[in-house]
Amino acid sequence: STLPPPRTRIFKIIVIGDSGVGKTCLTFRFCAGKFPDKTEATIGVDFRERLVDIDGETIKIQLWDTAGQERFRKSMVQHYYRNVHAVVFVYDVTNASSFRGLPAWIEECRQHALGSEVPRILVGNKCDLRDSVQVGTDVAQQFADSHSMPLFETSAKSPGGGGEDGRGSSDHVEAIF
Ligand code: GDP
Ligand code: MG
Repeated sequence: STLPPPRTRIFKIIVIGDSGVGKTCLTFRFCAGKFPDKTEATIGVDFRERLVDIDGETIKIQLWDTAGQERFRKSMVQHYYRNVHAVVFVYDVTNASSFRGLPAWIEECRQHALGSEVPRILVGNKCDLRDSVQVGTDVAQQFADSHSMPLFETSAKSPGGGGEDGRGSSDHVEAIF
């Protein structure tokens, strides 16, 4: 007998955070396996996809990246927040302001029914810039705990050089998604 080909299940993950934290680079790293040569500012909403094998089933991971520009957001926002399976909040470890911006993003997600019942993950990016760190792991971990999220410290840019478990390196980007 011939079975119809199985439909590929799609998992939609939105990647959120202040401009410049590395959302586009992280999604590129995950989907293309490398740091982009050049990044154009994201216009509106963009997504990248990657097929992954989970327990013998091929699943499509769809990472939605956004520019956060107000004029695009107004029209795109409903579409963006629809049918989301998980949320990745990103801050830049070298930019305290991007960390302070997180509660507003968390609140915006909550307003679109993406609260703690949806898998949410906190990512501190740019850990390769060791000498410029403004947001320490302790503070970030406390924040993550208070919002019941796991914390991942990563670098979209440089492989290796992280902690024992790959923390702080681009190898760790794999572990996030
Ligand atoms: P977005 O606005 O959140 O999408 O940020 P982008 O992905 O466009 O990155 C903003 C800037 O940060 C660019 O100049 C990137 O090259 C740089 N960048 C992104 N990720 C990293 C990283 O892990 N390490 C370093 N050193 N720079 C990064
Ligand atoms: Mg971007």
